[in-house]
Amino acid sequence: MKKVPVTLIPGDGIGPSITAATVRILEAAGAQIDWDSHVAGMAGVAKFGDPIPDATLDSIKRTGVALKGPLETPVGEGFRSINVALRKTFDLYANVRPAYSIAPGGRYENLDIVMIRENTEGLYVGVEHYIKVGDDPRAAAESVAIITRAGSERIARYAFEYAVKHQRKRVTLVHKANILKFSQGLFLETGRKVAHEYAGRVDFDERIVDAMAMNLVLHPERFDVIVTTNLFGDILSDQISGLVGGLGMAPGANIGIHGAIFEAVHGTAPDLAGKGIANPTALVLAGCMMLEHIGQGERAARVRTAVEKVIREGKTVTGDLGGKATTGEFTEAVIGRL
Ligand code: NAD
Repeated sequence: MKKVPVTLIPGDGIGPSITAATVRILEAAGAQIDWDSHVAGMAGVAKFGDPIPDATLDSIKRTGVALKGPLETPVGEGFRSINVALRKTFDLYANVRPAYSIAPGGRYENLDIVMIRENTEGLYVGVEHYIKVGDDPRAAAESVAIITRAGSERIARYAFEYAVKHQRKRVTLVHKANILKFSQGLFLETGRKVAHEYAGRVDFDERIVDAMAMNLVLHPERFDVIVTTNLFGDILSDQISGLVGGLGMAPGANIGIHGAIFEAVHGTAPDLAGKGIANPTALVLAGCMMLEHIGQGERAARVRTAVEKVIREGKTVTGDLGGKATTGEFTEAVIGRL
């Protein structure tokens, strides 16, 4: 099999260690990948004075596929999120975040939820400014949420097509159209129209986001595929990861017409960085999604089975799952199970 070129971005914080673990596991499973490694985030600033160096962007343009560790974004000030910039640059409009129960003994068993989050619009478009009142230049702040009919339609269609392709029964659209009647109203109206086209093939229902947050805690097993706008998807996907063992378990894919970037839902975990104890599972599972994307699904299945075995056994798991294993020990255990 010919090797497929893939851009590798180790990232910041725990990024380099979980990326190295992921590469080792994917290669041990026989993945045929020609890695093209490039920096971004704080590592990009340190090396080139740029959080998204041109060489990194050029590599993704060339390969069309990237596996990315988490990138640090300064809070409140400094440069804008590189993740948001990458999603915009490559128009990665669908953020797919599957979560299923692997770890035994949790609060919920048998969960299998896929969050499909609109990734380019809403409150994350970066249209923000301060408003001066009297002599206070930052007396007020305004952030604009932009929702388009075209953007809503393509993400709703992506969710329904995903449901059809993966034999899923229902799509739940999450919104706040009772208050944000224009922007969220447009998202809901467009989603309903798309749902109509799939009637009889995929069920459809809708929830207001606050009620959804409660429902996800009380009855998460009732949900299948969820589609929602950018900010709600960001928040609810972290909540969903908490239902299946935490952020260390939650992978994600950013899919667009011209490219795809695979990553963990979690960030750089500054509290764990440099200690070698982070759980690499989320990025490994993101690596599996990437293998499926490049037509190496058989290897992805091998990796998933090995990860599931090690986690269910519970002997060599990291601290977030109640164990004492290091990232390296967990990685070796997974490789041993392949
Ligand atoms: P975080 O996701 O890094 O950490 C939240 C909590 O989850 C921490 O307690 C951390 O220890 C734990 N955690 C995260 N990943 C884990 C893993 N693999 N194994 C075990 N525990 C894990 O969120 P944060 O602290 O809010 O953000 C830190 C930085 O990451 C910020 O700069 C933020 O902008 C960035 N961030 C990047 C991405 C991305 O690159 N896609 C996503 C989210 C946050």
